[in-house]
Amino acid sequence: MNLKDYVTVVPDYPKEGITFKDITTIMDNGEAYKFATDEIVKYAQELNTDLIVGPEARGFIIGCPVAYALEIGFAPVRKPGKLPRETVSVDYDLEYGQDTLTIHSDAIKPGQRVLIVDDLLATGGTIGATIALVEKLGGIVVGCAFIIELSYLNGRDKLKGYDMRALITY
Ligand code: IMP
Repeated sequence: MNLKDYVTVVPDYPKEGITFKDITTIMDNGEAYKFATDEIVKYAQELNTDLIVGPEARGFIIGCPVAYALEIGFAPVRKPGKLPRETVSVDYDLEYGQDTLTIHSDAIKPGQRVLIVDDLLATGGTIGATIALVEKLGGIVVGCAFIIELSYLNGRDKLKGYDMRALITY
């Protein structure tokens, strides 16, 4: 299957000059969604993954079916104030300004092999912060999986030393 055929490219969203890659047209096609999920499941199996971690919100959509298929857990990474119990947090830089991501302090057991999953790798800021959260809790980041990588934004350079897999590259 050529998964790229199921991505919708939306010009000038969310603002002028940005070409948004919309993965909802992968998800609303049962075959394409299953294909994408199965590819990440295979990658997770190669890496002997114990736990899937995904940042909100599209990381949940991609990561949860992978965790379900492997009968392993999923831990959500969220914006501040969204998780109900004790959290650890990491600040990271955006193009303009800063943002923060959090995870429950007990979400990962030290030594657990964690695969981080998100819909799209752009500059790598989100995944860099997610890696820092996992490592703060003693998890081992065995890899990072994406449906889409925007290679021209050089996110991989920020994440050197980590195994990465993207199903589609622009
Ligand atoms: P980064 O932190 O710059 O790597 O941006 C990645 C995050 O931004 C991911 O969580 C994506 O969901 C979101 N994102 C950035 N560009 C796009 C896009 O074109 N389509 C869908 N999500 C995007």
